[in-house]
Amino acid sequence: MQEILFLEPIFKEMIWGGNRLGTDFGYDIPGENTGECWAISGHKNGDCKIKNGAYAGTTLSTLYKEHKELFGNCGGDEFPLLVKIIDAKQDLSIQVHPDDAYANEHENGSFGKTECWYILDCDPGAKIVVGHNAKDKEELKQMIDEHRFLDLIRVRDIKKGDFFQIEPGTVHAIKAGTLILETQQSSDVTYRLYDYDRLQDGKPRQLHIAQSLDVIGCPYEENTASRSTKALTNGELETMVSCKFYTVEKITLTGEETFVQTEPYTMMSVIEGSGTVQGVAVTKGDHFILPSGMGEYKIDGNLTIMKSYIG
Ligand code: ZN
Repeated sequence: MQEILFLEPIFKEMIWGGNRLGTDFGYDIPGENTGECWAISGHKNGDCKIKNGAYAGTTLSTLYKEHKELFGNCGGDEFPLLVKIIDAKQDLSIQVHPDDAYANEHENGSFGKTECWYILDCDPGAKIVVGHNAKDKEELKQMIDEHRFLDLIRVRDIKKGDFFQIEPGTVHAIKAGTLILETQQSSDVTYRLYDYDRLQDGKPRQLHIAQSLDVIGCPYEENTASRSTKALTNGELETMVSCKFYTVEKITLTGEETFVQTEPYTMMSVIEGSGTVQGVAVTKGDHFILPSGMGEYKIDGNLTIMKSYIG
């Protein structure tokens, strides 16, 4: 039987971060402004180590390069996806990401960034920014020049369980009081468009207006990808999104269920409850990879898992 690969999360302190990764998820966080948990990552800015078994202590990036058989011999030298939990106590800056072509050309061969958000929890009245109101680049440029950012952005209400797919070129921002599970391409390229005129150590944070103007899609097109739900024997499986880079599913169980791995490898994050995967205990806050060759496997318990895989 293939051994499940558990990962050691990496934490990032951010000016906008809070303490819920400690209070809600029980992680040993570095401080009261911990914004991000890089839960499944082989990125150079936060490369998770394997926690258990034969590969304990090895980073995911090394394992991916040296043991391609565990990942279905997929092409590429870099682990392609990154799963994070984000605790936004304050608003994040209004930002946009490039696509693969732009990032490759302008950011030293980096991947672009398509990302998606599952709202784990949020304060009453919490909001999020997705999209903008400029009809074309001309108007976009004018609104930016005139500093009319609050007219430019589209702000919407959110609630627990909502899901958003953020394509490259989409203006977006997570706002205060929001806990999110993010699945994204493994990229750390962000162009900051507006930071609410905040100061960090007495200075505004750097903006990237020229790059933002290059990559923002005009006009904004609403992403209409729809979710679909399939009943299981003891729960349900909801497909949240399936795009060129990843598929994300939410599995909610109240008992035992048998699954068959049809993808090259499978990433999982337990976001509620506890149970077992192939007899191995798992609980809220655990992140792991089912390597290639799992075949049929059993999950049992009262738990909710976010599952993702390439393609
Ligand atoms: Zn983003």
